[in-house]
Amino acid sequence: MLASAATLALIGSAARARGLKWDWAVAGVLSTFVYLYVVCVTCAILPWLSVSVPGMSNLAVLTVTTVLALWCFVACIFFDPGRVPAGWQPDAEDGPKLQEVKKKDGGLRFCQKCGVHKPPRTHHCSVCQRCVLRMDHHCPWTGNCVGHGNYRAFFLLLLYGVAALWHATGLLLAHAWHVLSAVSADRVLRTGPSGRVTEAGSAGLWVHLVLEGLAFCLAAPAAVALSSLLSFHVRMVLTNKTTIEWREGVTAQLVSAMPLAGAPRGAHPYDIGVCNNLREVLGESADEWCWPPVRPTPGGTSYPTVFDPGVRLPSYKR
Ligand SMILES: [Zn+2]
Ligand SMILES: [Zn+2]
Repeated sequence: MLASAATLALIGSAARARGLKWDWAVAGVLSTFVYLYVVCVTCAILPWLSVSVPGMSNLAVLTVTTVLALWCFVACIFFDPGRVPAGWQPDAEDGPKLQEVKKKDGGLRFCQKCGVHKPPRTHHCSVCQRCVLRMDHHCPWTGNCVGHGNYRAFFLLLLYGVAALWHATGLLLAHAWHVLSAVSADRVLRTGPSGRVTEAGSAGLWVHLVLEGLAFCLAAPAAVALSSLLSFHVRMVLTNKTTIEWREGVTAQLVSAMPLAGAPRGAHPYDIGVCNNLREVLGESADEWCWPPVRPTPGGTSYPTVFDPGVRLPSYKR
């Protein structure tokens, strides 16, 4: 609980320093992460596995995945998702094929609220009250938009979060099974199959079990929900789509109007092949794909498309 309070105090002071308001959803997610970690370590790993190879291995893996997930979570909160640079103008020399246009009249996209031209894949967030580069969605759990600047942190948060949550769920289940089996065996030995456990130490044991039961009720549903969100975003990364583009087909019209020879009808213009998409969204090297970002992703006002001559496309898109 002390670690939980200290983490919340640290995040609270950082948020105040940046002029951000207290957010109960963010505080709830942070508290849940810290609570699950503390219960798994103090109620399951240390008393049960102690200083053994399985004990230290579980402690190391759970600590690493939890710290990485928390790092990405904090990055999602504090990294700017992407702001339209002052004075940004569509480049007329790029030609119409590279410009996203309005669905209604085919004109250039302009945000009336912000008074700026919208770069490709930019959308106005009604919660943040501003335009966000390569906007994916507004995330209430981080109190911030997910966009070009922090999408990698968001994706890695799902990855590490799912790993930590399934690990915690498995640990809690295995420990509960171990304890209940031991209690049952002890009861049979002392008082017979229908006897009651009356030893002094049993109260602490049941407190641990209640704490672990609550932790399981938090970890298991969160693991299932985050796994399904992760599988959706794996598909989004492999096809280089944002949630908005998947939902609204914003850019499909562009390709339908100018189909490429051999390209499937309605193909997404930013889908430049699985390897290119991975590099484009998660970084150039496999190292970058795994480690949490230390700064927001730069750029975000232009993206390679299937129309670019320099992009090496899979055979069906050539
Ligand atoms: Zn706007
Ligand atoms: Zn937003």
